[in-house]
Amino acid sequence: MTPTNEKREFKTEVRKVLDIVINSLYTERDIFLRELVSNSADALEKMRHQELVSGGDEVFDRHVPLEISIACDKDKKTLTITDTGIGMTALELEENLGTIAHSGSRAFLENLAESGGEKDLSLIGRFGVGFYAAFMVADKVTVQSRSWRKDEEGHQWESDGAEDYVISPCPGIHRGTRIIIELKDDALKYAEEEGVKRIVKQYSAFVPFPIKVAGDEVNTVQALWTKSASGISDDEHRDFYRYLGNVGDDPLTRLHFTADAPLAIRSLLYVPGENLERFGLGRTEPGVSLYCQKVLIDHHSKHLLPEWLRFLKGVVDSEDLPLNISRQALQDNLLVGRIRKIITGRFIKHLKDISEKEPETWKKVWETFGIFLKEGVTSDPAHEKELAGLLRFESSATDPGELTSLGEYVARMPEGQKDIFFLGGASREDIESGPYLEVFKKQGFEAIYSL
Ligand code: ADP
Repeated sequence: MTPTNEKREFKTEVRKVLDIVINSLYTERDIFLRELVSNSADALEKMRHQELVSGGDEVFDRHVPLEISIACDKDKKTLTITDTGIGMTALELEENLGTIAHSGSRAFLENLAESGGEKDLSLIGRFGVGFYAAFMVADKVTVQSRSWRKDEEGHQWESDGAEDYVISPCPGIHRGTRIIIELKDDALKYAEEEGVKRIVKQYSAFVPFPIKVAGDEVNTVQALWTKSASGISDDEHRDFYRYLGNVGDDPLTRLHFTADAPLAIRSLLYVPGENLERFGLGRTEPGVSLYCQKVLIDHHSKHLLPEWLRFLKGVVDSEDLPLNISRQALQDNLLVGRIRKIITGRFIKHLKDISEKEPETWKKVWETFGIFLKEGVTSDPAHEKELAGLLRFESSATDPGELTSLGEYVARMPEGQKDIFFLGGASREDIESGPYLEVFKKQGFEAIYSL
């Protein structure tokens, strides 16, 4: 595609997202900064990975340090975010910022469609609306970008977020992306350095690249999972979880697992505070990323854990993985298979431990994510048995609301009973007023209620 400086119209879906972002998410405006910083961090992670894979020779501006700088200009009423990541070609600017072919905004829109537009918007805000969030605070956004590929040139994308955008050449710029936000009159606080520093600290403390606001580095650059377990405070865990999940709640429980043999693994896994699938917000995408020696190999990896563990947020780092492994090769990689086995087994053990030692936490985990464990029993033969031990049900022998395990059921079985009996229904009342329960009761059998 040759840029022509012509106006191009946003696709209808983009206009919808923009309309909602501009008009409805007003109360959570600070998140626009989180979204843009997180895009920059992704672009930097991709750059670091690209350099490793290609050896660096094909990379334009190879020795420019990987970082994010943020500048406020009160007089010009602008906020500018610059990164030295992979950048975008003209075509990528068009595809990424003119359509919603990408994940964040698409999920946002799908969920909105499913909810008939009535869903709690603050909940939807947690999905991350991505780049378009900039229009919450902007009269106009200009994106200047230069791809890492040597034979490319810089380009600029401009829009007021209404109907259309313009892409034009922007020669002579460095590798990476600069986003210039011309602030709305009611958003001028984002031209104040102190406030911006505070927001960046709050939302982006764990971005693994320096973030400079007006020249001062404001984030703590550290890979939390490489620290020793005792050196991490609860607050750090909470903040890290919030950063990983782009959320504002607290994790229900966490597992910090490290091993040196048979594989070197450092991992931090968090069970979120909420199950968004339960709110009808679409299928949760995997939330655990794969690293090798702190370099991101596969963001929100689909290959790392079994599907039923897609609700987890976290990081797994193994220095045994080859650094330059391609994402396609991960699927069949034996090492990844072994890591999956170890982590899954260890996480199930963690659940078993809390089910025995922390009844309060376990109750919440089961109520919120029990459905995923049930999915695991039916879809993951390798872990079926261990998971079955974690299932909890009401039954004809429990009080309403009280739960029992299959193990406890078996221990109560009268002599001669060979099977576990289940009765399905919409509710406890439904089952107890139905005709079948009597049949079991008469024979002295307990029935599990499958609700
Ligand atoms: P998402 O991040 O969920 O994919 P966004 O709307 O935030 O959605 O961004 C769309 C796409 O634009 C990204 O997937 C990425 O390819 C590209 N992009 C956004 N910001 C940057 C950036 N700072 N550097 C390079 N590419 C970017």
